[in-house]
This record gives sequence, structure tokens and C-alpha cells, in this order.
Amino acid sequence: MESDFAGLSLDEEEEEILQVQNDSDPVSEEEILSLVGCFLTASIIHYPAMKSTMANLWHPVRGVQIRDLGEKRYLFKFFHNIDMERVINGAPWTFNNHLLILHKLKGGEDPLRVPLISSPFWVQVHGVPIGYYSDNLAMQLGNFIGNFQDYDGSSLGKENMNFMRIRVQVGIRRPLKRKKQVKFRNKCSYVRFQYERLTLFCFDCGRLGHNDSFCEAKMEAGVDVNELGWDLSLRAQSRRAQAMNSVRLREEGGSEGGTKKMGAFRGNRDWGCVKKFEGIVDPILGFNLESNMLSLQSERERAPFADN
Ligand SMILES: [Zn+2]
Repeated sequence: MESDFAGLSLDEEEEEILQVQNDSDPVSEEEILSLVGCFLTASIIHYPAMKSTMANLWHPVRGVQIRDLGEKRYLFKFFHNIDMERVINGAPWTFNNHLLILHKLKGGEDPLRVPLISSPFWVQVHGVPIGYYSDNLAMQLGNFIGNFQDYDGSSLGKENMNFMRIRVQVGIRRPLKRKKQVKFRNKCSYVRFQYERLTLFCFDCGRLGHNDSFCEAKMEAGVDVNELGWDLSLRAQSRRAQAMNSVRLREEGGSEGGTKKMGAFRGNRDWGCVKKFEGIVDPILGFNLESNMLSLQSERERAPFADN
């Protein structure tokens, strides 16, 4: 009887909830400054090479610490918020063409358990009549593709930007969206999506991270699926390539600079480059080798060349 009572009391003791004193409770996001990530590939990641490549790619002013957490996950610890934000805003990143899926850690999150299932992409929307560009349409299309994050309104009115550009958090477990039927006024037409810096994806099932030789969906469906539903038209030409092309491109009558028509190009960065770098742009390489000239430009003009 007495031992029963003692046992019960032990149960009770065991059931009694121990309140964990969380020392890290007041830790704000700024103080964590860590991203957890994995590479979307079945291949082996060469850890030392990856570490130095990412550090060189990001060149954070205050440095970055990279740790192998096991289970194909890595922890990227930064020492200044600006360094970390630059990496977040510059995503998607790749190593050996493998997409790096990143997640910004919040207080109390276990880096081995947070889901790594989406990545941001800049998506170009082609086929929208220019008069219909709007924040609202950008948001609707963004949320169709994935989760809308941002709309690059700066592309508006640019001579060579006949598409909308939206930043979307794209889920990696679902097929990439290719197009969407939209009704403009009373007429239905398709808008088509092109993803900037799109990495390896499957032409069979439309998912990121593998090709059709290693497609599980294809194997389940049996051999030789009818026709491939996805193709390279989903991959946007890189902005650098666009810039390179247009450096060589001369508008008709472009040498006369002072005409009324040329005035309309003010603000078009590509035309500005042709004008500014006439005689400086290397005709073979297609870009300016004298970087000191670039430093004379305003930040705004430099921006297109600094990224991507
Ligand atoms: Zn597949």
C-alpha cells in the first residue's frame, strides 16, 4: 500500500511539467543572423569547395561561418545584418549549378527541422499588354506561381522591358508554372512565365532539382511518357546577357544623339551605356575593361551591371 502510493507519487512527479527556462527567448532575429540551407541535388556536395565558393560569391564584409550540420544541411552564420540581407535578396544562389535552398532562422527554430521547400526567383511575365501592368496583377500572378514577394516596377517604360518582373517564392515540390490564361478587357490570352537564373529542372514533371533521366514521376507512369511538358523556354535570358547584347545594339539614327526621338530614351540604361562607353567597350568582350570609368557612374546606372 505504501509502495503503491510511492509509485503513484513518482508518476505524478514524472507527469509534472518542467518549464524550460529559455535563455534565448529575447534573442531577436538580428542576433541570430543565420541561414540554414541545402542544395537541391542528389549529387555529393564537395564541402571545402562549396565553402570557399559561397564565401567568394557573397564576399560578406564581416565574413561568414559555414558549418556542415549533417543530413545535407549547412548553417551559414553571418556577422552583420547587411551581409545576410544581401545574400537573402540575391537569391537564388547555386553551387555547381545546384540550387541552394535557404531559410532565415528565427529564434527557437531547429535548423535540422525547418522545411527547406521553396526558393525565391525573379519571374518574367510575358504577354501582358503594357497598359495592364499593375501591382494587383503582379500579386495575383505571383500568388499563382508561388507566393508573391515583390514587383519590380522599375522595368516599366523601359524600351527593352516588354514584360512584368515579379519576385516569387516558388515551391520546389510542385511543377513549375508555365503560363496562365488571363482575360484582358473582353479578350482571353495566355501570359507566359520565364524564370531568371533557373537551375536544373525536369522536362517531364516540371519540378526542380533533377532531369528526366532521374524522374520518379516518369518511372511511376511507366516508360516513355507521351510528350515533354516543359522546355527551356521557361528559362529567362540572364540580365547580363541582355545587357551585353544591348551594349552592341545601336538604335537606328543613334549616332545623332540630339534628336527628339533620342530624348525619349533618357533613363534607358542600355542606351546610356552605348552613349557613355562609346570607344571604351571592348568590341570582343562586349564590356568595359576600364572599371575606373564605371565608378564615375551613378549607383542607379551601375546597378544593372553589378548584379546577376
Ligand atoms: Zn521529373
